[in-house]
Amino acid sequence: MTFSPEDKAARALLGITPSGIRKYFDLLSEMEDVITLGVGEPDFPVPWHITETAIYSLSKGYTSYTSNSGLLELRQVISEWLEGLYGLHYEAEDEILITVGVSEGLDLSLRALVNPGDEVIMADPCYVSYMPCTILAGGIPVMVPTRREEGFKLNPLALEKAITPRSKILLLNYPSNPTGATMSRAELIPIAQIVEAHDLVVVSDEIYERLTYGETHCPFASLPGMKERTILLNGFSKAYAMTGMRVGYAASNKTFIGLMTKIHQYTALCAPTTSQMGAIEGLRNGSASVTRMVKEYDQRRRFFVDGLNKIGLECSLPEGAFYAFPSIRVTGLTSEEFCDRLLAEKKVAAVPGSAFGESGEGHIRCAYANAMPNLKKALDRMGEFVKGLGVCR
Ligand code: PLP
Repeated sequence: MTFSPEDKAARALLGITPSGIRKYFDLLSEMEDVITLGVGEPDFPVPWHITETAIYSLSKGYTSYTSNSGLLELRQVISEWLEGLYGLHYEAEDEILITVGVSEGLDLSLRALVNPGDEVIMADPCYVSYMPCTILAGGIPVMVPTRREEGFKLNPLALEKAITPRSKILLLNYPSNPTGATMSRAELIPIAQIVEAHDLVVVSDEIYERLTYGETHCPFASLPGMKERTILLNGFSKAYAMTGMRVGYAASNKTFIGLMTKIHQYTALCAPTTSQMGAIEGLRNGSASVTRMVKEYDQRRRFFVDGLNKIGLECSLPEGAFYAFPSIRVTGLTSEEFCDRLLAEKKVAAVPGSAFGESGEGHIRCAYANAMPNLKKALDRMGEFVKGLGVCR
């Protein structure tokens, strides 16, 4: 009998396509002189005091597994941090779990709560992992369109319309990847009322919390009645530029954290010890480094968005994260055509909005976590490209 690896694949994977972002990474690796606005990753190195702490911990022999839940010291620092900043109290012992980045926290949250056929509601466009992770957990993703005219914010009426008797989880992300939109406390209150009325659980991915440029970030769990029913996800990848160190955390009630820990202990065991050591240093002494990076992102944000508007790609000023999400409708191209041609003809890599959901079509995602001279060059090239299409000023 001939052996067919394809026939052996788990059926759950059949409907899952590779991330629309990957294609651009693969193309990029074969090209020279490309300016990439495609990668959702800080261009800064990990602040040196964090790296030094991590190296020191290695040299001191801190190389064994930690507790499944993560180093108690890190959980205590996180607990103090959330209490100090937002008045949110989580017990370090059993209400906080250290994860392998927010990616693992997301997967654990969904696997811990989803039964086959449960519906998980999310904004469209949204981060590329949400839909596949929901499907892998046996759930059904339900997309709530968000609109440019409303700043890509989750509209309570649209949310209410998406709810059915199978709805179980509302998956939130603000500030948002890919739109940079965030939600204020006043905008979140009607969402919380709907959550309560329909007895939903909220998984709130707040990984860009520190990268908020206007009003202070408001964690969903801090809204009246929401702490018990929310799993707060956060991590060190974005604010501390620690993407490759793979460390994040989940905070919630004991039951949810217990369920997540059950999966985590059999699948990941623990987050990397060295990275947990670095994360402690980051939270304790990293504020100045974060502030410095956020200040720089803010300057780039204004410069880049202004430049996009000048070349005719309409873009509102994003309130958080490090993404601009301009409209490319004026060009008449699909977002994929736009990005393919921009890369081939002008060597600038951006990501088609359609990679993040149907409502992302007509837009492209540009990560401005890149040095000013590169952003300037990218804008020049994009300007030439758009001008060459003969559609803009
Ligand atoms: N959530 C969002 C919204 C993201 O944009 C990303 C990374 O781009 C992640 C989660 C993954 O984060 P981590 O590196 O902590 O796994």
